[in-house]
Amino acid sequence: MNRIAYTKPSITELEVRYATDAVTTGWGERCYEYIGKFEHAFRSHLGVKHAIATSSCTGALHMGLSALGIGRGDEVILADINWIASVAPVTYLGATPVFADILPDSWCLDPEKVEAAITPRTKAIIAVHLYGNLCDMDALLEIGERHGIPVIEDAAEAIGSSWGSVRAGSRGAFAAFSFHGTKTVTTGEGGMFVTNDDTLYETVLTLSNHGRSRQQTKQFWPDMIGYKYKMSNVQAAIGLAQMERIQDLIDGKRRVFNLYSRHLGGLPVAMNPEPPGTTNGYWMPTIIVDDSVGFDRDKLLTDFKANAIDGRIYFWPLSMLPHFPSTQNNVARRLYARGVNLPTYHDLTDDDVIRVTNIVKAHLTRESGA
Ligand SMILES: *Cc1c(COP(=O)(O)O)cnc(C)c1O
Repeated sequence: MNRIAYTKPSITELEVRYATDAVTTGWGERCYEYIGKFEHAFRSHLGVKHAIATSSCTGALHMGLSALGIGRGDEVILADINWIASVAPVTYLGATPVFADILPDSWCLDPEKVEAAITPRTKAIIAVHLYGNLCDMDALLEIGERHGIPVIEDAAEAIGSSWGSVRAGSRGAFAAFSFHGTKTVTTGEGGMFVTNDDTLYETVLTLSNHGRSRQQTKQFWPDMIGYKYKMSNVQAAIGLAQMERIQDLIDGKRRVFNLYSRHLGGLPVAMNPEPPGTTNGYWMPTIIVDDSVGFDRDKLLTDFKANAIDGRIYFWPLSMLPHFPSTQNNVARRLYARGVNLPTYHDLTDDDVIRVTNIVKAHLTRESGA
């Protein structure tokens, strides 16, 4: 029985060829060539003015928040259910995260709860498009505009997600992407900062190079204390190949999700939504088992394990972690224990999907009968 990983990258001869070229020739004067090409390809795909390749999405968020001037005493609102990477940079800057509840259908920020959480100290809203699902950006941007607060997109999980032809990550004050090995586009480790704001771009560009401005003619002269979150040329070569295959990579994610959706039809579960007029990149096919049915998440994961299938639990509400004050967000607290991510990768076969869904089916039938 082949082991079904929860996710893995799709690497072809193209990635191997570009990486080999970068490691062979991409030094000295040519040490930024693939970085420039990768940034250009990403910018064109997304339809944004500026892109800066980084060593991680966490680093891109850290620099963007820093460039917005966020620091001690400031508050940043984000959804309670999130991976730690979305909030960690807020704490690096000494600012205070404020966790708002999520919507039961999109699993993303509830705009009403965001508005209720705004105080004179609120300096940013981070909209995370969870598992590929789109945040209600119209509402969030309207709230941000009315209160003079920038809305940032953490689009690490939203490659391939869009409103019509407008891609996730192209609407916020800035957005951050991840190319970690589990993401739809990968460079092993890596990220991207994108923005349409010229000033923000210049500031982050300077910050990203140890505070050395492009205009600075003195050697080794930092204009400010910056960061070191740069991507290497070899990683960018892999990224460029992935961008040349981007539609294929997105189609792969959508194929797998649609198979799950077909085989799990009729069961008491909700899956990633795709509202009319939008496209979901379906980074992580996820089931939330209905409240009406008994569900033991750990038992399902044990069943998976016995069948060489790798499942993942839904993210914890961040307000349940000991590092943050506890906040009673009812929807987040109700949902997280009923959610499981199903395996998804480019080469996952129809038979693999059926192996997974048969276990989910058996489990839910057993549970609802109990
Ligand atoms: C993966 C992920 C990150 C972190 O990305 P890194 O490249 O590992 O820093 C941040 N936010 C979200 C929503 C993610 O899924």
